[in-house]
Amino acid sequence: MYRNKSYGDGWEDLDYPVRISSTPCHYGGHRYWFICPAQGCGRRVAKLYSGRIFACRHCYQLAYPSQREASFERCRRRADKIRERLGWADDPDLMEGIKPKGMHWQTYHRLVAELDQWDRKSDGGFASYISQRLGQLKPLQ
Ligand SMILES: [Zn+2]
Repeated sequence: MYRNKSYGDGWEDLDYPVRISSTPCHYGGHRYWFICPAQGCGRRVAKLYSGRIFACRHCYQLAYPSQREASFERCRRRADKIRERLGWADDPDLMEGIKPKGMHWQTYHRLVAELDQWDRKSDGGFASYISQRLGQLKPLQ
């Protein structure tokens, strides 16, 4: 439950559930995921972004395509390339941090550090991209 104010519009009350799902980890325990609450989506994701509604990055990109490629897109592509080298697919299930066979530990640690950096840049850029376009989310008083 929260209120949202878009540019030029009044306040709007929003109230909807966000489901959570869990998957077992390789080494025990569980990992929790959000189910994207946007209509027609339902993806299992690690992060939701706040705009008018909370939704996954796929949804926000579909809804607000940019003319020019934003810088966060480039960061994400760099991150995705490293994920490929590490053999970690985009499926969050497979992002378990397992070192590929035959890869030196030094290379592995360097790639993981680089991946973390690109991920942060990409997420930070994407967050500000959304807030510029959709205004600030305000909690319900
Ligand atoms: Zn979504």
